[in-house]
Amino acid sequence: MIDPFGRKINYLRLSVTDRCDFRCTYCMAENVKFLPRTDLLTLEELEKICSVFINKGIKKIRISGGEPLVRKNIMKLFQNLGKKLTESSLQELTLTTNGSQLNKYSSDLYKYGVRRVNISLDTLSEKKFHLITRKNNFHSVIDGIKAAKKSRLKVKINTVVLKGINDEEIDSLITWCGKNNFDLTLIETMPLGDTGVLRSNNYLSISELKKRLMQNWTIKDINFKSGGPARYSYIQEANLRLGMITPMSRNFCSDCNRLRVTCTGKIYMCL
Ligand code: SAM
Ligand code: SF4
Repeated sequence: MIDPFGRKINYLRLSVTDRCDFRCTYCMAENVKFLPRTDLLTLEELEKICSVFINKGIKKIRISGGEPLVRKNIMKLFQNLGKKLTESSLQELTLTTNGSQLNKYSSDLYKYGVRRVNISLDTLSEKKFHLITRKNNFHSVIDGIKAAKKSRLKVKINTVVLKGINDEEIDSLITWCGKNNFDLTLIETMPLGDTGVLRSNNYLSISELKKRLMQNWTIKDINFKSGGPARYSYIQEANLRLGMITPMSRNFCSDCNRLRVTCTGKIYMCL
């Protein structure tokens, strides 16, 4: 698939639910109204969409949400899509999760062919975790991350940078990820949807943050490409690959290879 801008589209990001067990301040309003269940695609329809797009050239599928692992019977979808890794030209099946259910599902995910997982974690402080997610699940997330590592899933931590909330903590996250052999990607907060919180108050450009980090770390830009929106650097002291997603300060549209499908079946070529 080639889009009207000449971009080769080979990556599908499929949302399997709008529901979530967290209410991150940058993502959802506290009293968010979810879609009626009947509006969501069934697991069979989600699988069918994947099959159609694999036939059209999709090589990588990322399952997302809401929180994908709170969808009932979601392992059935992973099991069926996992079969396509051997039976079709699908090369990678992966997911983005908040980690709260990974203790339960990590070993099954590995069994069904998932090898990498992106886990969102914005802080190592239980108190700040509550402030950001409005929930008290910090320990279940940490346990989930440990379970993912134990199940041999390669972990990448995604951290949304929030000025005045976690920007002073990024050094600790770098050290922690380095010690655990996790990659780390920093994301600028984007004004997506109405969350009831003014996000511009917490916006910090990642180039500004990078300048700060360079006072403590040797950061070298590297040519690594994941096909996604991140640009990468290597932090020598932590032996860590650092991704930076900068939709606000430096957009990545020209390199984008992604197609997005919502849990109701709408196609978007952009966030
Ligand atoms: N619930 C899963 C999770 O949190 O990983 C998957 C869905 S979540 C929408 C996917 C990613 O988008 C997460 O890494 C989250 O931090 C990020 N995200 C959500 N809202 C954002 C915003 N307003 N700006 C930047 N990133 C955001
Ligand atoms: Fe849920 Fe992920 Fe949004 Fe947080 S970022 S509210 S975990 S969907």
